[in-house]
Amino acid sequence: MPLFTPGRRYQPPFMPFKRLPFKKRLLTKIELAIKSPLFGCRMCGNCLLSKTALICPMECPKGLRNGPCGGSTPEKCYVDESRPCIWYKIYDRAFKLGREAHLLEVLPPMDWDKAGHDSWSEIVSHAKDMGIKTILSHLNSGEVGSVSATVESIIQPIRQPEWWQGDSEYHAPKYTQPISELEKKLKAGEFVVTTEIVPPLSINTDKLKRNINLLKNYASALNFTDNASAVPRMSSMACSKISIDLGAEPIMQISARDKTRVGLQSDVIGASALGIRNFLCLTGDSMMMSPNPKGRMDIVDFDSIQMLWILRRLRDEAKYLDGREIKNPPQYFLGAAATPFASNMKFQALREQKKVNAGAQFFQTNVVFDADDLDNWLNEMLNATF
Ligand code: SF4
Repeated sequence: MPLFTPGRRYQPPFMPFKRLPFKKRLLTKIELAIKSPLFGCRMCGNCLLSKTALICPMECPKGLRNGPCGGSTPEKCYVDESRPCIWYKIYDRAFKLGREAHLLEVLPPMDWDKAGHDSWSEIVSHAKDMGIKTILSHLNSGEVGSVSATVESIIQPIRQPEWWQGDSEYHAPKYTQPISELEKKLKAGEFVVTTEIVPPLSINTDKLKRNINLLKNYASALNFTDNASAVPRMSSMACSKISIDLGAEPIMQISARDKTRVGLQSDVIGASALGIRNFLCLTGDSMMMSPNPKGRMDIVDFDSIQMLWILRRLRDEAKYLDGREIKNPPQYFLGAAATPFASNMKFQALREQKKVNAGAQFFQTNVVFDADDLDNWLNEMLNATF
C-alpha cells in the first residue's frame, strides 16, 4: 500500500501515447519511482495532489477527479468492494486537516496528451518563467502562509490550464428569463413534481407514449433515464423529443459514463436544437453493473461536476471546451443528482455545493422514504461554511 494513499489496489501507471525523448523518459521514471510508493501515483500527468489532501484520486476505479460518486460508503468502494472508497478517504483527511475548502475547486478532466508524462518538468519551467528572484522574494517576505502561497502560485496555472480555469466560486447563470417551464415553476416557488420514465428496449414507442400521456397532467416534467445500470435502451434524447411532441416537458438525463467530451458537447447542441431545455447531469452507474460482456470500467472521460462546468460555459460563455466560440449558443436549465444518504452528510453537502458552483441549478434525488434524515441533510447544506 502506498504510504500516503490508503488504497488497497496497485493500479498500473498510464503509458504515454507516443514515444518520449530520452530526457523525458528518464524524468518520468524518476518521478514514478518516488511518487508511486508514496502516493500510488499512476502518472496521469495532470497531478491534483495539492487539492486532494495528498491522496492520489486516480486510485478511484472510475478515475473520478472531483469527489465521491453516489455509491460511496465509509467502508468500501461500490465498484470494487475489496478496497475503500478513495474519495471518502480524501474527504475524511481533508476535513480532519481543516482543508475542506480545497475540495471545492472544480478540477479539470485529464488532458490525455500528458498521460504517462512527468509533471515536474512543467512545474520547473513555470517557476523559471515566474523568475527565481520573484519566487525567493515571496518566500522571504516573512508573511504567514507565504510558502504555501508561493507554491500555489507556481502550480495553480498547471492544475488549472487555460482551457479549463476551474475555481471554487459560484457562477450565476448569464440569463434572466426562465428557459424552461420547470425553471419557471421552481423560480415561482411552486411545488413541483417530476417523475421518471424508463425508455423502451425496442423501437416500439407505444408504451412510452402511453406512459407520457398518462403522467403529463400530473408532473411538471418527465425524466428519461440514460441507460441506467449501464444497460442499453432507447436514448434519453429520442424519448425527450417524443415527449415534446406529445406536449410534455422532458428532463434529458446524461450519463458521463457513456460519453466522451466531444460526444457530450455534440449531443447537447443537438438536443437544444430539438427543443430540449432541461438536462440532468450524472456520472452514471459503473459499467460493473452492466450485463456481460462488460465495457471499460476503470475510467470515465469526465465526471458530473466537470459536465456541469463544460455545459454552463457552453451556454453562458458561448464556448466549446477547446475555446471555439459559438455564434448561437444553446439554452438550457441544468440539474444534478443529490445523494443525501450516501456516506457522510457533511461530505455530500460539500459535493452538492461544488455542483452548484459548477453550474447545477436544480437537484433531483432518488425516492426518499426517511423525511427526518432528509431534513438533516438539508440542514447540513444550510450550515455548510466552506
Ligand atoms: S467509484 Fe465511487 S465508491 Fe468507488 S472509489 Fe470511486 S468515488 Fe469511491
